[in-house]
Amino acid sequence: MFVDKVRIFVQAGSGGNGAVAFHREKYVAAGGPDGGDGGNGGSVILRVDDHLSTLMDFRYKRKYVAPNGEDGRGAHCRGKSGENLVIRVPRGTVVRDAETGQVIRDMHDNEEFVLCKGGRGGWGNKHFATPTRQVPRFAKSGLPGESHDVVLELKLLADVGLVGFPNVGKSTLLSVTSNAHPKIANYHFTTLFPNLGVIYVDEGVSFVMADIPGIIEGAAEGAGLGHDFLRHIDRCRLLVHLVDVSGSEDRDPVEDFEKIMDELKNYSADLAERPMLVAANKTDLLPPDSDNLERLRAAAAERGCEFFEISAATTAGTRDLMKAIAGKLAQLPPITVYDPDYVKPLAEAGDEKELQVRREGDLWLIEGKWLERLVCDINFEEYESRAYFDRQLRKSGLYDRLESMGIQDGDTVSIYDFEFEYER
Ligand code: GDP
Ligand code: MG
Repeated sequence: MFVDKVRIFVQAGSGGNGAVAFHREKYVAAGGPDGGDGGNGGSVILRVDDHLSTLMDFRYKRKYVAPNGEDGRGAHCRGKSGENLVIRVPRGTVVRDAETGQVIRDMHDNEEFVLCKGGRGGWGNKHFATPTRQVPRFAKSGLPGESHDVVLELKLLADVGLVGFPNVGKSTLLSVTSNAHPKIANYHFTTLFPNLGVIYVDEGVSFVMADIPGIIEGAAEGAGLGHDFLRHIDRCRLLVHLVDVSGSEDRDPVEDFEKIMDELKNYSADLAERPMLVAANKTDLLPPDSDNLERLRAAAAERGCEFFEISAATTAGTRDLMKAIAGKLAQLPPITVYDPDYVKPLAEAGDEKELQVRREGDLWLIEGKWLERLVCDINFEEYESRAYFDRQLRKSGLYDRLESMGIQDGDTVSIYDFEFEYER
């Protein structure tokens, strides 16, 4: 079975907690704090794997969870970080936010993508020793990892999409012109998933062609297989419409041609406008008295499509067709890559009462559920981001509470792995 759209849940690991520990040794009376930091949680990473051609694996496994970081230990031992979880996807997988459908990332190149960041580990108490605070009996918690419900959708990366009725010879054409070995058989719906082939025309001139399974009548309304497969030609720069002119199946080539054109239009107006070449196939079987070829030529001309006569079986005319395709592609814009339009919603301030405030001299440690999320979203190197953080804290009522507890200007406010000096 061919699977080209799935919904999955991904979750990065949480950071481990920092440790509270003190150095112990014979004859050493009061050892200093030596609690190590928690390890970072593992991230969830996407990577393109060209050995994959469907999203099949995701049908049976829908939940992907990266391991947590370990807690820190005494003697300065840092907790082990959780390993990153690498999810392999076929090239051309578009990752969307399940809720909004917005594009998070188009996996079209070889760059890895961090889909969910692991939480950072918390600091151990060794960080908090100062001349006036020699026995810090506290450490920081690790931060949670990000999580996300996403939809993976495969949209093949092919320059050229071969469209046409089942059995017209699409797979045969791909097999005689490219390195691909698609299944070829004389019955409808042989091709259950798209085949990709690289066609080498000349030095430095090559392109990728996809054989798209049968687009059948009514496919755009959801009948049969066709509709699902049409998304694979969404990105194609050029369509090659293959028509069986032999009449060997008692079908009329012009009717076939028009039906497919209607299907394309029903699926998307944009696709119907895509540059197209028309190739009449099985000319080797053409009865001498048939006017099929001329009628199809006229139908193609009416739509402004260049017309070719070929026989995929004998390869007659196929080389000229491939050259013409390469020539046409050279004039067309590059393949479509979907730009991300997903914007992560920022965490909002929650209730100040949910925050735990701990005072250690001039150090104020703040923790809380909503604060964890907020800190994860903030980029502390960015002014805008810091300002947002500050506004959220103010809004929550935290500063008022600290004031009432007697915080002084110049005291340190410590929030997870971030600290700042308090100023009214
Ligand atoms: P697809 O369904 O469009 O992929 O069609 P296939 O490539 O599987 O071909 C269907 C049948 O038509 C197979 O039996 C092929 O051998 C045959 N065929 C394909 N092209 C030609 C051709 O140019 N001439 C002849 N005589 N048979 C062909
Ligand atoms: Mg086929």
